[in-house]
Amino acid sequence: MKLVLATMNPGKVRELTDMMRKANVDITVCGLMDYPGYKSPIEDGETFGENARKKAVTAAEALGEVVLADDSGLCVDALDGAPGVYSARFAGEGHNDEANIEKLLERLKDVPDDKRQARFVCSLCLAFPNGDFFVAEGDCCGSIARAKRGKNGFGYDPVFLLPDGRMMAELDQTEKNLISHRGAAYRLVMPQLRALAKESE
Ligand code: IMP
Repeated sequence: MKLVLATMNPGKVRELTDMMRKANVDITVCGLMDYPGYKSPIEDGETFGENARKKAVTAAEALGEVVLADDSGLCVDALDGAPGVYSARFAGEGHNDEANIEKLLERLKDVPDDKRQARFVCSLCLAFPNGDFFVAEGDCCGSIARAKRGKNGFGYDPVFLLPDGRMMAELDQTEKNLISHRGAAYRLVMPQLRALAKESE
């Protein structure tokens, strides 16, 4: 069976293809680059779940395919949950991960070590052409360090301190998948995908 991942990022399509293969689930994953006429909706939800649902439900109805969409980001307690759904553009449109981290550390410079709790969140939505959908959410708790450490990962990983003292950016991909918000959300969706693959056999 075919599954459309609501992304233009070929890396994300490869990553999900690899996950399906490792989980022994017979699903062919393609991305929105295979549908050049399709225009994605604006991500203006107030929660990760809302954004994932909008992306998945809109694409499933327009393309007549089963669609999976994700939305993720960082929520910092001392900033009342910010940057949240604005994680990718915290330092402004067109800014990079470096600028986002710099802004985060600046905003937290007077926050004491025991008040720097944060969590990564990932929402996944699996949507069907008839309008049915299913949302799953995973998270990963830690705190925000005062300086960067580690070379792996992306985004806020170099300042995300895990309870075991390692920085998220010090984990390799396999270790990260085991504890990450994305890994947790995918583990919740996997039984549904497995059932769909079986049904279409
Ligand atoms: P997206 O929804 O996957 O595009 O992620 C939005 C933003 O959240 C990214 O640009 C990162 O800034 C942040 N983010 C999401 N997941 C992670 C992660 O695993 N590590 C670090 N930053 C992340």
